[in-house]
Amino acid sequence: MTEALIAAWNTTSPVIVSNLLQDTYLFKFEHQLDVYNVLQEAPWSVAGNLIVLERWRATMDWTFSSTEMWLQLHDIPEELHDPDLITRLAHKLGEVSRVQYINGVRGGQRLKFYRVHTRVDVTKPLRRSLKIKRRSGVDQAAEIKYERLPLFCYYCGYLGHDEQRCRVLFEDETSHRASHHCDPVVPCSEFLRRRFMPYLRCPAPGARLVEHAMTIFPKASPPQTTPRQS
Ligand SMILES: [Zn+2]
Repeated sequence: MTEALIAAWNTTSPVIVSNLLQDTYLFKFEHQLDVYNVLQEAPWSVAGNLIVLERWRATMDWTFSSTEMWLQLHDIPEELHDPDLITRLAHKLGEVSRVQYINGVRGGQRLKFYRVHTRVDVTKPLRRSLKIKRRSGVDQAAEIKYERLPLFCYYCGYLGHDEQRCRVLFEDETSHRASHHCDPVVPCSEFLRRRFMPYLRCPAPGARLVEHAMTIFPKASPPQTTPRQS
């Protein structure tokens, strides 16, 4: 399992791996650049299963409850395209390390969205939208999409299983069928309609669009000027 993961990381220097606890491994990187790239390209998965990465702490009090991820915020009205406002909005998603504005063309299609690098709590269902307030005072929902989404349940919104293995779906469907006297053999159309949430999975924007992205958080620090000596 770890061999496949390390091969996928494609690091510039070898990675030393040791088994710490059951299902918990310690990866030692020789170069900081490799750690940076691995975390930037998270989440990682093996056979669809999420690998949760945390930095080493001598206290060993890891929680493995969140993973770094790139999220995309779509459908932000033009009137709200203000870097400070978008940054404040992005911080509602969690511990944000970077916000980019993607504005370019891919495959003949104009793409405009914000891209947020943040830690996502994997012990809760994924958020599907973010509430935004229009200048008119009307509330609107900005759609959230997830890059490199691993095994995910479109019914309950949790990572780590699919609809086939979802106990919530199984129980809801069983009680629905019992109360509505549905045919036990025919797929229940009412239930099929309810089981799929909006499409949360999306591809990464690609190297060319990322290269031309505008970073709006963290803000670039102004050039340092040294007082002139007289
Ligand atoms: Zn589920």
